[in-house]
Amino acid sequence: MNKIISKEKLNESVARITVDAPVIARAAKAGQFVIVIPKANAERIPLTIADHDPAKGTISIIFQIVGATTAVLNSLRVGEEIAHLLGPLGMPSHVAKFGAVVVIGGGVGNKDLLIFREELGVQSSELRVTTDDGSCGRQGFVSDELKDFIASGKKIDLVVAVGPVPMMKVCCDVTKPHGIKTVISLNPLMLDATGMCGVCRVTVGGEVKLGCVDGPEFDGHQVDFAELANRLKMYKDVEKQAYEHVCGLRVGSRSMAEKKQRLHMNERPVAERIRDFEEVPLGYTVEEAIGEAKRCLQCRDPKCVAGCPVEVDIPGFLEFVAAGDFESAVKKIKETNSLPAICGRVCPQEDQCELKCILGIKGASVAIGNLERFVADWDREQKAESGKPQQEPRRSVAGSRIAIVGSGPAGLTCAGDLARLGYQVTIFESLHVTGGVLSYGIPEFRLPKKIVNLEIDYVKSLGVEIRPDVLIGNTYSLAELLREYKAVFIGSGAGAPKFMNIPGENLEGVYSANEYLFRVNMMKAWQFPACLTPVKIGKRVAVVGGGNVAMDAARVSLRLGAEEVYIIYRRTAAEMPARQEELKRAEAEGIIFKYLTLPVKYLARDGWVSEVECLRMELGEPDASGRRRPVEIPHSEFRIQVDSAVVAIGNSPNPLIQKRTPALKTEKWGGIIVTADQLTSLPGVYAGGDIVRGAATVISAMGDGKKAARAIDAFLNR
Ligand code: FAD
Ligand code: SF4
Repeated sequence: MNKIISKEKLNESVARITVDAPVIARAAKAGQFVIVIPKANAERIPLTIADHDPAKGTISIIFQIVGATTAVLNSLRVGEEIAHLLGPLGMPSHVAKFGAVVVIGGGVGNKDLLIFREELGVQSSELRVTTDDGSCGRQGFVSDELKDFIASGKKIDLVVAVGPVPMMKVCCDVTKPHGIKTVISLNPLMLDATGMCGVCRVTVGGEVKLGCVDGPEFDGHQVDFAELANRLKMYKDVEKQAYEHVCGLRVGSRSMAEKKQRLHMNERPVAERIRDFEEVPLGYTVEEAIGEAKRCLQCRDPKCVAGCPVEVDIPGFLEFVAAGDFESAVKKIKETNSLPAICGRVCPQEDQCELKCILGIKGASVAIGNLERFVADWDREQKAESGKPQQEPRRSVAGSRIAIVGSGPAGLTCAGDLARLGYQVTIFESLHVTGGVLSYGIPEFRLPKKIVNLEIDYVKSLGVEIRPDVLIGNTYSLAELLREYKAVFIGSGAGAPKFMNIPGENLEGVYSANEYLFRVNMMKAWQFPACLTPVKIGKRVAVVGGGNVAMDAARVSLRLGAEEVYIIYRRTAAEMPARQEELKRAEAEGIIFKYLTLPVKYLARDGWVSEVECLRMELGEPDASGRRRPVEIPHSEFRIQVDSAVVAIGNSPNPLIQKRTPALKTEKWGGIIVTADQLTSLPGVYAGGDIVRGAATVISAMGDGKKAARAIDAFLNR
């Protein structure tokens, strides 16, 4: 009885479980609820029956992890049983032909938290979406939409509002003056929920009603919301204690307040760091790392791991850090990630593992990236061999040679994983330096090259051979590689710059971000003339774009001596794809942000760029990317005086191999087409990273490399 049959995550903090409960399923009606005690000693909490199937004998419950008991409920896995389940409880919803009904659910901040959009769309004549940040539908509250609906004069016979109490109250305030009947579903405190304890009492129309027996639905215009809100606060402080206790079951005595505080890394002072190319963040001390790792709850079902494209056992390595056993921590990470010092520095953890971390939902996630960086740096400083793998070549693969094209994160990861399995791996790299964007794109102050080189050395120590200065497609064709090697992985990246195709883009002093960063990072133009490649930028630099590449180009310009550096971006900070922490650092360093601004032409003095003409923009409706579309404001032209400009609006896949290999199928925009296993249209040829995705991230490239390595191994061992 009460066995969990299925479990599904609907968003970061909301889950749906289907439970074997035939007696409840038989009697349940829409609008009723159950009391759930997930485990012995947990609270009794009321949860709406979201669905029931009398034939199968199941009910479904949807819940948000908001406190201790829901956290315990969420910790149960499929096959486990809920300790107690009582229901159906409360009055069923009054179902009738009311006429035109506006149903309101609400209380979400952004598009990632929306659930059941499609289902609601199918059930309603019209679906309107609002989010707090405008990432989907209208920016604002559901009550704003309700006001507009009423103002439009459309006939409304009934409003049903279900959600947080403040939202339901505001909806009632909106409908009351118009005399529109409004039903709300209340969630007062409950204990027995059978009419015995009276804790769920609410005043409705001057009378005391019991939420569990008379409700949960009431006429919203009659409800005493002030009293309800006050009663709901009653146990708030001790609820926190309960939540802490649930967490503390596994992590000891740190208080909830401490767990909520994420430890930020110290950085070099702005005035000092903009004068050189040395790294900006300083990393954690041993004590800081241990303290931060102790925040981890060691979840039984760790969401963070699902957010990591290379599947690092995050709670596993954090447990070692918390215990001060850094050697075991680095070993644990390197089981699946050969480049932890790089990932710890440049991966967008805030959109991946840290986004999924359960602590992030209640406050601030564990600083997984900073800790990964700490562990990798500790290993390096100890000159430890901790990460060295136990290599056990399998007989069946010994002697099988694999070719990898490109030494960026995709190629390095695929190579490392295959070498660990015992394959003989050769990486062909067209440049004289290995590492791809890690070496030529991301600047020293964000990713020191000695760290990149050490991690490349680690991959080499696994037995991988790297052959620089070999351009596949020209030096050797793909067909030639296939004659020599059992399989080929293409990780040739997205290095072809995009331009806006506006007048003056080819003037002297207008760089593509690739050219600019390549000169500075790869060829060390900042050490000119000791290094012979020059770069000329002057005192005023405009960088066009809003991603990491634009931030890097702008911050490089400051360090090269520019006095005024502009980022010109056609949307606002909220839509910027750059990592938030890099955006903040750029702001702190004095980069001038020209938001809602679109360059339309460059003007020259003596052939060298001297001005950028721009238009002002405003934000319109969201586009396919979900971000609000920038719309030009007519006749809003203005000019910015510059001595150079950098176009950093994105990159396309490197086209050479595809051009030289017509049988290799590609997307219209140039990306190589692959299956879920990274297999291209040619047998034995796999691809991954930016050459498949277009300009993306280091970790997604690594994830592709890992998948391809698995698929190649499976292909050769069929
Ligand atoms: P690449 O890193 O591009 O490597 C491809 C390699 O293949 C190159 O070395 C290239 O020379 C070689 N190659 C190409 N063609 C051939 C050929 N025909 N024969 C032989 N070799 C060939 N991502 C993040 O996650 N975080 C960041 O902070 C971040 N910042 C960035 C900053 C900049 C300036 C840039 C440009 C990118 C940034 N990215 C960032 C994106 C990230 O670096 C890329 O998504 C990632 O490097 C892609 O890896 P890859 O292995 O697919 O390709
Ligand atoms: Fe749970 Fe976050 Fe720790 Fe992962 S890092 S195990 S999600 S607390």
